[in-house]
Amino acid sequence: MIVMAEVEKWYGSFQALSGINLSVRRGEKIVLCGPSGSGKSTLIRCINHLEAYQKGEIRVGGTLLGDDGRTIDAVRREVGMVFQHFNLFPHMSVLRNCMLAPMRALGIGRKEAEATARDLLARVKIIEQADKYPAQLSGGQQQRVAIARALCMRPSVMLFDEPTSALDPEMVKEVLDTMVALAEEGMTMICVTHEMGFARQVADRVIFMAEGSIVEEAPPDIFFTQPRHARTRKFLGEIL
Ligand code: ATP
Ligand code: MG
Repeated sequence: MIVMAEVEKWYGSFQALSGINLSVRRGEKIVLCGPSGSGKSTLIRCINHLEAYQKGEIRVGGTLLGDDGRTIDAVRREVGMVFQHFNLFPHMSVLRNCMLAPMRALGIGRKEAEATARDLLARVKIIEQADKYPAQLSGGQQQRVAIARALCMRPSVMLFDEPTSALDPEMVKEVLDTMVALAEEGMTMICVTHEMGFARQVADRVIFMAEGSIVEEAPPDIFFTQPRHARTRKFLGEIL
């Protein structure tokens, strides 16, 4: 589904990713963790070309992600993304937030876009809020809208970049529950998160990054009990 081969990424003269090799199968759930500045956001942002990469190859569903608009559009159609700070359009209702991209980017008619949006808002248990504006919702509710909005594009992969780290503690669970439900439906997911309970529950593999490289990866039962690298042990000691 996703293949990254020897990917390198620089910001100017600073190398943010080096020698990244990662394959994600359809339906697989990956949790990506690591210290601040290790390149987690950069890695997932390269997958939908929010950041360009300079060396190696990234393939999404067979499409080689190049620098031309055509392959970037093709890949973005397959990949949904949810950010730490929700990034909803503040001047649009929840329903309109969810209808916009399918109508604009996929050319779907208003009626169908609305039906899909209502269906997905119901799935994230927020249909009662459909006519409100983002500022009228709690953080947890806004994040569930952001998940529904991404799903309205019918992506085959979902990328999450610390979706719960801007939330008050009491709202974390409702967002994680939504992500668990999505995982159980078989969605392919790459989640940057330090919610290790979530990792234990849904991840097929946990990947630990440091200084722009993948240091270690293992299924959660092994990752948490028998980390191989000192760097991983230090990190786990800090967050668990
Ligand atoms: P965090 O846990 O704090 O979100 P991260 O693992 O997501 O960290 P990245 O945001 O991917 O880390 O950043 C990796 C490195 O690249 C950091 O050293 C960061 O300072 C640098 N970096 C990120 N974005 C840019 C940018 N636009 N220009 C220059 N350097 C950047
Ligand atoms: Mg980050």
